[in-house]
Amino acid sequence: MVVSRFAPSPTGYLHLGNARTAIFSYLFARHHGGKFILRVEDTDRERSTKEFEDMLLEDLRWLGLEWDEFYRQSDRFDLYRDYADKLVESGHAYPCFCSVEELEEEKKRAEERGIPYRYSGKCRVLNKAEVKELKKRGKGYALRFRVPDGRVVVFEDLIKGHIAINVDDFGDFVIVRSDGTPTYNFVVVVDDALMGVTHVIRGEDHIPNTPKQILIYEALGFPLPRFAHLPVILGEDRSKLSKRHGAVSVRNYREEGYVPEALFNYLCLLGWSLPEGEKEVFSKEELVSLFKLEDVNSSPAVFSKEKLRWLNGVYIREILPLEQLVEDFLPFLQSAGYSADREYVKKVLQKTRDSFETLKEGVERLKPFFAEEVIYSEEALQVLESESSAMVLSTFLQRVRDGELSGERVKTIAKEIQKELGLKAKDVWHALRASLTGETEGVGVDVLCDVLPKEKVLQRLVKAIKLVG
Ligand code: GLU
Repeated sequence: MVVSRFAPSPTGYLHLGNARTAIFSYLFARHHGGKFILRVEDTDRERSTKEFEDMLLEDLRWLGLEWDEFYRQSDRFDLYRDYADKLVESGHAYPCFCSVEELEEEKKRAEERGIPYRYSGKCRVLNKAEVKELKKRGKGYALRFRVPDGRVVVFEDLIKGHIAINVDDFGDFVIVRSDGTPTYNFVVVVDDALMGVTHVIRGEDHIPNTPKQILIYEALGFPLPRFAHLPVILGEDRSKLSKRHGAVSVRNYREEGYVPEALFNYLCLLGWSLPEGEKEVFSKEELVSLFKLEDVNSSPAVFSKEKLRWLNGVYIREILPLEQLVEDFLPFLQSAGYSADREYVKKVLQKTRDSFETLKEGVERLKPFFAEEVIYSEEALQVLESESSAMVLSTFLQRVRDGELSGERVKTIAKEIQKELGLKAKDVWHALRASLTGETEGVGVDVLCDVLPKEKVLQRLVKAIKLVG
């Protein structure tokens, strides 16, 4: 059975690049009817927090990822200790008593000589008696992995192809720190092996770690998984996507009013496409059935906020069921300080969902449907003060007073007024818009009148008429 995993560190918000890794790993498992594991990698006790972990899980769920098993590395420290002991017993690891100062000194010397630093291997040669003696004296120690000399580690990456790395430059690396906490390269191997992970799918920044991990697999006698390293995501200036490019966390986009289906879909387009064809809008189910690692591009993908925004608009306009759009929209409405009942919001969105691309933008644009009072912009005031406005509004008020109010009827009345008063169409519409929305552009007056309760329309007209005397 295929087993894949996503292994985030809870040291910050979920980054778009990591979210894409999670999605690809998830799709791969689902495509093969396999298992998808979520593993929180919090061995770095200083940088990891429970708050970030909670937010991470929340954002992953929001995106629509479900996992079959969940693990947290800080719950597994005893287990790692057992495997560290095994490595020491078999001679693949050894205690290193070098102090921070000594190591700093080594580093400085390497720097001065202009050569890349690697651990000198000083403690590699300690014999059993010396180790015993140092321990007896209470000297703290880390555990280092004994990197074999002159070895080239080779693996076939499912995305990047043939990779060969000489491990001579690594130096013996730490697998358990002197404070007893194990390091990433060590625990990732223990976990992936014990959890039965068959495919390690992660960002290409981990390629340099892979040979170290392969050495540990070998030392512990674990079978190797397949590796698939995803290309980085770049900003539009072709540098690695980072905070400099603006919002880069899933949470940012969620708060901006992007819907999870659109973000999920868009992230898949960063580096994956069908071999044939232009299709870009995919449901999650389609993606599960179509996704193949072979179709992942091995060169970097470029993130385009414009395109994500466009796709979000497509989901809002055409794809989300209306009920769900309402559900997604309500919290944005509330946090902007408006209250409205679900049925009313549904009526509004049914008529206006094609007029905005994010939920936040939607709230801003649809204010006239939800605001208690119209607040006039400078421009709207100017329109209201123009010569014909008072006449237009009072005539309009008289005619809409009786009978049903609808967009169609408003159009008919506007035409009559235009003819009778000898005005241009825009003079009539501008006055109506300014009085009913407080703006000079935005939602259509006819659409507004289709939905807004009649008494509100009348109130707004009266208020504007009073204002212009
Ligand atoms: N915790 C690592 C990270 O967040 C996971 C790397 C891996 O998938 O092996 O980068």
